[in-house]
Amino acid sequence: MQESRKREIRIKAASFREKCKVSRYGIIDLFKECERRGYKLLRYPLGENVDLGFTVKKDNDIVIFTNSCSRLSREIFTLAHEIGHVILHFAEDISFIDDNSTINGRSKDEKEQEANYFAACLLMPYDDINRFVDLEIQNFHEKGLSALDIARIMSEFNVSFDMVLNRLESLGVINQNQKLCLDNERIEKRVGNLLRSVGGNARLNVPSNEIDIPYEYIDYVIYNYNHNAVPKETLEKVLVCYHLTIEDVSDKLTPPSDDDDDDLDELIGGLDD
Ligand SMILES: [Zn+2]
Repeated sequence: MQESRKREIRIKAASFREKCKVSRYGIIDLFKECERRGYKLLRYPLGENVDLGFTVKKDNDIVIFTNSCSRLSREIFTLAHEIGHVILHFAEDISFIDDNSTINGRSKDEKEQEANYFAACLLMPYDDINRFVDLEIQNFHEKGLSALDIARIMSEFNVSFDMVLNRLESLGVINQNQKLCLDNERIEKRVGNLLRSVGGNARLNVPSNEIDIPYEYIDYVIYNYNHNAVPKETLEKVLVCYHLTIEDVSDKLTPPSDDDDDDLDELIGGLDD
């Protein structure tokens, strides 16, 4: 990526970040920022070996999906990557689907590299990282960083251990050898333990399995149910996601007429044969 393009991306990430709620250094809740901007955010535990996220533009809606079976820190990175596509690429394209090959940083695709760079600049800007290392890490200039310090940075910026190491290396805060040592220390001590030792956010290291679906989706499913486009079981499954039952929405349901029942029976009968 050319330096001029990188600069452009840094400017866009900084301008997105300016409107975010930030604690002392890191963005507090990137999921809430999406809602605040009117993006339709969907989080669902789709399983471990499937797509990590996607984004699509439909008419005036921007829809972003993230798989909540990923560890939370990774899901947040995926979200930042998808926001990158929205901000950088939606003038030319209208959809992106991401898996391990596009989000691990090894993809050769220029747009994937750009989205990853945007995510890094959004979550861990150069200035804030330097300020954190300078003000919050004791004896950094004499002793360098320990794995506990990495866990502190993780917790403040809501990112993964890997991402902290990669970002610190690319910003020149640590060298390749230090990165390797910190990585070994991580394997020995485990990230969950490190986070607990520093009183950090241990939830970052496990999947949230969160289910978060825009509320208007209920109306959409009820409409389809009332028009016999989806069976009762589908409606029930969707309601469960919102911790609701059929009784809770009974005033919105149109009782099916006898004719409709017949049609449905015929249809189901037809499918059974
Ligand atoms: Zn992507």
